[in-house]
Amino acid sequence: MKNKQYDIVIVGAGPAGMTAALYALRAGRSTLLLEGQSYGGQIIQSRKVENYPGTPEIGGVELAEQMMSQLRALDAEVVSARVTGIVKATDGYEVQSTDAAYTARAVILATGVTHRKLGVVGEEGFIGRGVSFCATCDGMFFRRREVAVVGGGNTAVQDALVLSEICSKVYLIHRRDTFRAERYLLDRLAKAENIEIITDSVVTEIKGEFALQAVILKNVKTDAVHELPVAGVFEAVGVLPQNAAFADVVDLDTDGYIVADEGCQTSTTGIFAAGDCRQKQIRQLTTATADGTVAALAACEYLDNQN
Ligand code: NAP
Repeated sequence: MKNKQYDIVIVGAGPAGMTAALYALRAGRSTLLLEGQSYGGQIIQSRKVENYPGTPEIGGVELAEQMMSQLRALDAEVVSARVTGIVKATDGYEVQSTDAAYTARAVILATGVTHRKLGVVGEEGFIGRGVSFCATCDGMFFRRREVAVVGGGNTAVQDALVLSEICSKVYLIHRRDTFRAERYLLDRLAKAENIEIITDSVVTEIKGEFALQAVILKNVKTDAVHELPVAGVFEAVGVLPQNAAFADVVDLDTDGYIVADEGCQTSTTGIFAAGDCRQKQIRQLTTATADGTVAALAACEYLDNQN
């Protein structure tokens, strides 16, 4: 069977991919949006988004739904499939997926990032049974219980604030004594009465008989070790790219991010990268949607020049 041919295949339906689809569809290009799990990317884990211009406050899931309904109104074709590789074809590229192979004259990679794990003893066995990467999704499982959040960035502080409204007590464990989270979040953190901040400390083990019962903490300055009883651990220690499937078709940097210029052009003509998956300084919702715009318009220009 011949593969269906599209002008543009977009890999990933987070804010970058959905914005790219919006621009590609509005430019009249036949467009396919492929998404491995569910659309929305990282924003669906944010209970509140407060830094999207023109929208003072909106739930992350609601914002993702609005973006997708805007695409559906343009008859967007969205397929749930994980992309396994991209190979050069006669007229563009063949995008191979767990669903089928699709032919695209141009490809936009918008694969986002995934959660970094702590990599400590006991972690793997408790994932989904006490260890979580999403406070908004899983917080209610720990209602009125004591939990730990690990990390010092925006996600960790946001998670601690979300959990402080659900749990009886939240320990925020950070490996340094200064946080990289933004000032407005740190101001809120300072006001939360049931959040205890534990700095200069790392988790060395997550333990429990059947359910998760405690974490072992080590103070990195004194080497002192102590056990902290908690029912849940929310890991917010940053993100990792997931671009291994594209390593033989576009250049990746040493951290695995796709190397692309400010026009979102990768090392391979006709393949563009948008959002958190590409090498860049600032990974925000607004920079992801900006990339989606740039990548789609660049792809359209590339196709125009081919005609
Ligand atoms: P992040 O900013 O990279 O912060 C990760 C945190 O985890 C850092 O505090 C880091 O410590 C710590 N960490 C890393 N590896 C660790 C380990 N093995 N053990 C213990 N701690 C470890 O990640 P993020 O908070 O997920 O944010 C990712 C990006 O999304 C950022 O650009 C962020 O600004 C953005 N974001 C924005 C918003 C928003 O509303 N504006 C919300 C969420 C995320 P060190 O500080 O010591 O390195």
